[in-house]
Amino acid sequence: MTASIGEVMQDCVVDEVAPGIFRLDVPVPFSGLRQINLWLLRDGDGFTMIDCGFADAQTRQRIEAMWKVVLNGRPVTRLLITHFHPDHAGNCRFICERWGLRPQLTQLEWMAANVALKSLYSDDPQLAPRFYRQNGATDDLIDLYHADTILYDTGVELTDDHERLNAGDRLVIGEREWVVMTGQGHSPEMAMLYCADDDILIAGDQILPKISPNISVWPWEPLANPLREFLVSLEQLDTRVTSNTLVLPSHRAPFHDAKSRIASLREHHEERLALLARLMKERGEITATDLLQPLFNRRLDGHQLNFAMGEVIAHLNYMMFEGTVRRMVDRDANIRFSLC
Ligand SMILES: [Zn+2]
Repeated sequence: MTASIGEVMQDCVVDEVAPGIFRLDVPVPFSGLRQINLWLLRDGDGFTMIDCGFADAQTRQRIEAMWKVVLNGRPVTRLLITHFHPDHAGNCRFICERWGLRPQLTQLEWMAANVALKSLYSDDPQLAPRFYRQNGATDDLIDLYHADTILYDTGVELTDDHERLNAGDRLVIGEREWVVMTGQGHSPEMAMLYCADDDILIAGDQILPKISPNISVWPWEPLANPLREFLVSLEQLDTRVTSNTLVLPSHRAPFHDAKSRIASLREHHEERLALLARLMKERGEITATDLLQPLFNRRLDGHQLNFAMGEVIAHLNYMMFEGTVRRMVDRDANIRFSLC
């Protein structure tokens, strides 16, 4: 069923993607991503909502319009948040205050959201530029970063408290039982929901169609190995899902066949690793910045630069932990990589 709510707001569409599961498509202000899917699941006399959208007036207006159509006078009785990123956690307070709720999310996602909101780490205007400079970034790249970065606290309003979700929790939502699964790599403890009876996976950003979730090393943990974590999480996910699984991703359209998507995400990263190895073989010692152009092959804006740098370093760190790449730090803390 596709319920158009044109009378409420011209360009809003709500899809019922499986019986009792509604997809709300709302815009996000990030270049490249364009939209996010929020979910409403029929849950007895009310609805469970999953994810919140970016906290701006336009998104809230859309959410209200979609509530009008889907809820049909019934309340939202539970809010789950898959992970702390602003497009997912943004309207947490708005939704919870409206319906008298406490949000449910995993412990690390709750903590990451609070750390980011206190302007530590992700919003420190010096930390990322310093790290990118160490990785070869020139002044013009740093200027680009400053011009386009959207600070976390401009898009997220949290509640004072939360309820913890744990991997393995069983949640009854309406007629269905869901098991909470967690994944790493894109965020510290992303929650996903899997319903074995109907073979449906609410995937958050862990697997997406066509685009690969950003896997980044961030400046506050320069020796992290998020690509390893992501690949391990994909392996775990692969043991639960099937080639018929209906995947409800946070971005773009739902799709069937989780297994082949997992296989192509693995392949994508293997190709990237092979390309980096080839470039290092040709060029010798190299900085992460040297690899941006050959890897992404387009002009990046400041927001994308953040993700591109993180992603290049994630692949280089992965190779370092595999023992195929050497990471060298000079006296001025400049970082270069070469094949072993
Ligand atoms: Zn995300």
